Amino acid sequence: MRSVKTGLLAIIAVLVTALGLAAYFVRNAAAGPVVRTEYLMGTLIEITAYGKDAETAIEAAFTRMRAIERRAGGSASSDLARLNARAGKGKVRITGDTRAILSKSMAYWRATEGAFDVTVGPLVRLWDFDFEGEGRLPGAAEIERTLPLVGGEKLILNEKDNEAALARAGMIADVGGVAKGYAVEEAVKVLQGHGIENAMVNGGNSSIKVIGRGPKGRGWRIGIGDPRRAGELLGVVTLRSGEAVGTSSDSQRFFVRNGTRYSHLIDPRTGYPARKAILATVIANDATEADILSTAFFVNGPAWSLAYAKKAGIKAFFVDAKGKTKASPGLVLGQPYEPR
Ligand code: AMP
Ligand code: MG
Repeated sequence: MRSVKTGLLAIIAVLVTALGLAAYFVRNAAAGPVVRTEYLMGTLIEITAYGKDAETAIEAAFTRMRAIERRAGGSASSDLARLNARAGKGKVRITGDTRAILSKSMAYWRATEGAFDVTVGPLVRLWDFDFEGEGRLPGAAEIERTLPLVGGEKLILNEKDNEAALARAGMIADVGGVAKGYAVEEAVKVLQGHGIENAMVNGGNSSIKVIGRGPKGRGWRIGIGDPRRAGELLGVVTLRSGEAVGTSSDSQRFFVRNGTRYSHLIDPRTGYPARKAILATVIANDATEADILSTAFFVNGPAWSLAYAKKAGIKAFFVDAKGKTKASPGLVLGQPYEPR
């Protein structure tokens, strides 16, 4: 009698467990993504995540990005604002995020032969490409006068003591070409810390990182916008888990004078907007690196950059100054729409 009862109980236990497991799998298979957007770092950031804690994870990721914006963004109390206010006067204390951003920026200033330079700020201001600027054509003499205020060698970073300084009065550090990528990379770390395995963090389409295999299990598909036809795509890249994309183009901020297009990406060595490319896209494993290198590759142009990409083991895609596309071997853009 007792053994029959035990047997029945065992069968019920197995059934309940099986039903529970089935319900779990059905719920998860059917669960769509959670998608949230927030305006941060001057752009719309969109986070897409799958998994049962997606909602909480995304909120935590945005909290992390907001903190980075407070430290490295434009508000008066940010590390960057204090660093710029003390240019030529002495050092300031910086937080770990700002230290990490400046440290990577300096490493790539060297690696890109000065093409990526966060001290480009005075030139960005001179050309009126600041946050709300509309662009203006400065005279050659103004550019000559401004160039001595630019140069990575005049940014002093003491990583051990969390201190930084700008050597000359009038210098301005501008992290607009790197901070978003850093924030995207950090946001992905937060999602992973919450157990999320399939997600995309998209910073205004110019800085993106993905983990997992995407909505249909076939990878995350990212469109590359056509820099000359708004709303049209040049094509689509499919990203593997952990890959990041950075894109810089002259269609983001520019003005046209006498048939010449002047964009917000400035060659810090000449003082003039870079003109060797109209679009540069980088695919790397780190969103900070992808953001920095898209800016640097835009400035140095396809020939230099494709050679660099090969050595660094990353991939790049360009539209050159004549409108011709160029890509690293093995980087093929797909069709914008999947065949049915
Ligand atoms: P991105 O869209 O990532 O290429 O970043 C563009 C922003 O980077 C500009 O709006 C400037 O704030 C800044 N910037 C412009 N030229 C450079 C440069 N040569 N090196 C570093 N930052 C730059
Ligand atoms: Mg960039």
